[in-house]
Amino acid sequence: MSEAKRNFIAGEWLAGTSTIDNYNPSDLSDLIGTFAQADKAQLHKALDAAQSAQRIWAATGLEARHTALMNIGNELIQRSEELGTLLSREEGKPLAEGKGEIYRAGQFFTYYAAEVLRQIGDTADSVRPNIEIDVRREPVGTVAIISPWNFPTATAVWKIAPALAFGNAVIWKPANLVPASAVALAEIIAKQDLPAGLFNLVMGAGSDIGQSLIESPAIDAISFTGSLEVGQQIARAAIGNLTKVQMEMGSKNALAVMEDGDMDIAVAAALGGAFGGTGQKCTASSRLIVHKDIHDEFVDRLGAGAAAMVVDHALREGTQIGPVVSQSQLDENMAYMELARKEGGEVICGGELVKRDTKGHYMTPAVIAGTKNDWRINIEEMFAPIACVIKADSYDEALHLVNDTKFGLTSGIITRDLARASHFRRNARTGCVMVNLPTAGTDYHVPFGGRGNSSYGPREQGGYAVEFYTSVKTSYISPGSPV
Ligand code: NDP
Repeated sequence: MSEAKRNFIAGEWLAGTSTIDNYNPSDLSDLIGTFAQADKAQLHKALDAAQSAQRIWAATGLEARHTALMNIGNELIQRSEELGTLLSREEGKPLAEGKGEIYRAGQFFTYYAAEVLRQIGDTADSVRPNIEIDVRREPVGTVAIISPWNFPTATAVWKIAPALAFGNAVIWKPANLVPASAVALAEIIAKQDLPAGLFNLVMGAGSDIGQSLIESPAIDAISFTGSLEVGQQIARAAIGNLTKVQMEMGSKNALAVMEDGDMDIAVAAALGGAFGGTGQKCTASSRLIVHKDIHDEFVDRLGAGAAAMVVDHALREGTQIGPVVSQSQLDENMAYMELARKEGGEVICGGELVKRDTKGHYMTPAVIAGTKNDWRINIEEMFAPIACVIKADSYDEALHLVNDTKFGLTSGIITRDLARASHFRRNARTGCVMVNLPTAGTDYHVPFGGRGNSSYGPREQGGYAVEFYTSVKTSYISPGSPV
């Protein structure tokens, strides 16, 4: 048996006091590897090392910082086929999505490499004579990054890259379901000439090492993506220490399909938005709000499209939907199917456990019609390949239903009416709005985040990330003697 993959702490690869085994959700006989779990002493070692490394990094020339980020980005892009295969094997998303995720992670690094050189402040005259003011941004310090399993590399990278670009140290705790992708990324980052301890990989259970990390007063900021419940726990711990916090916690995104929309675009957007990544996306279109005039045709076509989707091993050519990530997530999905029936939904297709050549967590994508917005299946985030259709009598009602949720990450409308699209863009209470596009699928150079229970704190991604990863300093400068 091969040795367990280690944590990267204070510039060294350290074995843990315990290990976990990681299996492929497409083929449960495929052991991907064994991975070290950090203990609290190792976490403290990482925290200590991060503090001194951060001071060195902040004083390191901009070009050296730019080069390090550029190198990481280029290597990810160049190895996207190989690392995308590992990611898909580990997480279960189809190979094209796995490769695309690694490529995108590379683009995040090259984008933030450029941002290193764009750190320009403001100057102003004081309201007092002969005094000048300089406003600049400084690193926030040591950042705890806690990432989920559904985008094992991209989500981590859209936090790690800006953290490093703006001069911070990083302690990264990835989700325990996807340690292989985490180690692969850490190996690439570790190749760079970074101060020992600037970047630390600390694998372990969220309830154990994650909890200790977020409670640590040595942390200056926490960036988290995951469930609402854990997000609320993190917020409580962060407030206790007055630690800066930024969180993205999922959603209940709606796609409004209007009677004047293009039916082909509507069906494609709904299928891609609801079932891409096996529905395990915070941007998934889980509520499909459909105008009554085209409701029946849309449901027929959506059902036919979903039933035709190929569910199979993530690495098999032609697979459109891979397995669900874990047995517990699959059990939860099945419980939601049961609930959908109990609440009175009509199962148009799918929602069944299926067997493939290899034993994995396979289920067919489900379309449930005749649902109401106040049913639990339309209130709770399912994170499943289950799409619920809600009929609306008018555009006004559709917009009301889109906004009638505690979440608010993304929303979308399918319409040919420019005035309606414009009204929707202005009145949808979500952080991202899509017009004639799926609710999932965002760019890396612009802000990402939501409202309500979906997000907390400053936006992630693009130039907006600077707000979270820096602190503003205002200096007043007097010449010291009369001019
Ligand atoms: P969690 O919120 O439990 O996990 C997200 C991350 O937080 C993981 O790295 C996890 O570690 C870590 N974590 C868990 N508990 C703590 C803690 N007390 N302190 C610090 N870190 C912690 O999500 P799950 O993986 O359990 O998924 C459950 C549901 O959450 C999904 O069904 C979905 O609804 C939602 N979710 C939303 C995501 C999004 O993109 N917004 C992403 C993932 C999940 P570890 O996994 O190692 O325990």
